[in-house]
Amino acid sequence: MKTIQLATPGAFASIEEPEPQRGDNEALVRVRRIGVCGTDIHAFHGRQPFFDYPRVLGHELGVEILEIDADNAAGLQVGDRCSVEPYLNDNDSPASRIGKSNCCEQLEVLGVHTDGGMRPLLSLPVEKLHKANELTYDQLALIETICIGAHGIERSGLTANETILVLGSGPIGLGAIQFALSLGSRVIVADINEERLAFCRDTIKVHHTLKADAPDFESRLTELCDGALPQVVLDATGNRFSMQRTFSLTAHGGRIVFLGLLKGEIAFDDPNFHKRELTLMASRNATPDTFKKVIDAVKSGAIDTKPWMTHRLALEDVPDQFESTIAEPGLIKAIIEV
Ligand SMILES: [Zn+2]
Repeated sequence: MKTIQLATPGAFASIEEPEPQRGDNEALVRVRRIGVCGTDIHAFHGRQPFFDYPRVLGHELGVEILEIDADNAAGLQVGDRCSVEPYLNDNDSPASRIGKSNCCEQLEVLGVHTDGGMRPLLSLPVEKLHKANELTYDQLALIETICIGAHGIERSGLTANETILVLGSGPIGLGAIQFALSLGSRVIVADINEERLAFCRDTIKVHHTLKADAPDFESRLTELCDGALPQVVLDATGNRFSMQRTFSLTAHGGRIVFLGLLKGEIAFDDPNFHKRELTLMASRNATPDTFKKVIDAVKSGAIDTKPWMTHRLALEDVPDQFESTIAEPGLIKAIIEV
C-alpha cells in the first residue's frame, strides 16, 4: 500500500509498504480522514524535539473498521465509523492503573513516537477506537484535537457559573473554548492575532475577546470580570511570557491550567502564588472518558466543527501540497482525505 512518510524535515516521500497484520485485541481500520495538527507542522519544519525521522505522521483520525475479532469487539463491528484515541499506553503502568492512561510512563503517541495514519490501513487496539456512526469522517478526525482542550477544561473543574480566560486561540485553544462554551461558562479569549480573535467572536461566539498585547489588557480584563479576575485561566500558547502572566491574571482561590507546552522553565513569584492560594495544573492529552464526552457534544451540536475545517487536500498530494497548505493565511485546520 502507498504510505506517505515524512522522510526528513521538509520532505515527504510516497513509499510502498506491506499491509498491516491485525494483532491480538486489534481491529484493522481504513483511514478516511486525517487532521493536520501543530505537532505535524513542527515535525515538518524540524522543530519538534525528540522526533525521529523517517516517521509516518497522522494522529487525528477518522477511520472505518474493516476487520475485528467478533469475540473481542467491545461493542464494535465491521463498518463502524470511529475516532481514534492515539495515545498508546501500557495498561499495567502506575499511571494507567490510576486511570491516567493519557500520561502513562510508557506512552507512545501514534504519528509522533510511532508511525501514524498517513496510510490507507492501520491495525489498532480495539480499546483505542471510539465509535460514532452518526458523525462524518471529517468530524471524527477533529475529535482528538477537541479532546486535548476538553481535558484541560475538565482538569480545571470549570463550572457553568464561572468565567474562564483562554490565552491563545489556535486549534488547541479552540478545543478548550468550545468545550467551555458547551458547559455554559462565560468565555473570554485573548490572543495577539486579530484574525483569530475575530473568528472567536463572529463564528465561535465567545463572550469577549481581548488583544493580549494591548497596553490596557489587565484593566480591560478586570472590567469584564466586574472588578475581579477570572476563576480559571488556561494557557494554550506555550509562550513563556503568557504562561508566567497567568499568575497575575487569576482570581484569588482560582485555577491555572497549562495546556500549552514550553520547552524550558517557568518562574513565578511565590508570595503572589501563596496570597491567591492558586492551583496550577498541567494538562496532557486526554482520557477515554473525555473522548466519549466530546463525541456526545459534537453529536448534540453543542460543538460545531464545521468552521474549523478551512483547508483540504488528498493524501497523495501531501508531498507536493503540504508546505503551501500550512502556509496559507486563515488556516485553522487542514483535513487530509484518504
Ligand atoms: Zn494534534
